[in-house]
Amino acid sequence: MFPQIRSWRISHYSEIMDVAKKIRVRKDDIEWAKKVKERDHFTCQRCGSRPLNGRGLHAAHIMSRRYKNTRHELGNGCTLDFGCHSFLHANPHDAIEFFTRFLGGADKYEALRLRAQEVKK
Ligand SMILES: [Zn+2]
Repeated sequence: MFPQIRSWRISHYSEIMDVAKKIRVRKDDIEWAKKVKERDHFTCQRCGSRPLNGRGLHAAHIMSRRYKNTRHELGNGCTLDFGCHSFLHANPHDAIEFFTRFLGGADKYEALRLRAQEVKK
C-alpha cells in the first residue's frame, strides 16, 4: 500500500470511526422509529389521529434521545402526530402526565427515567 495512504488512514482513524458510528446510530434510529409506529398501528397515541400512509406521524422519545441507554428501546417510543408532538414539547408538565399514563403508571415512568439516566461503567 502507498505509505502516504496508510499514514492518512492512521491519522484520520478516529474521524473515520466517528462517521461509521454516526451512520450506524442513524440506521438504528430509522429502524426504531419504524418499530414504534408499527406497534402503535400508525396512530397518534394522544389524539387518536391516523393519517393516511402515516404521514406526519413521529416516533417520539419519551426520555430524550440524548440518553444512549434508552435511545433505541421500543418502550421509550410513542407515536405522535406533528401537532401533539409539538404541544408536548411546548408543555413539559402535560408531557410527563401524558407519558405516565401512556406507560401505565408513575412507577413505570420512573423506571424508564432511571434506566435512561443510568451511567454505565
Ligand atoms: Zn395527535
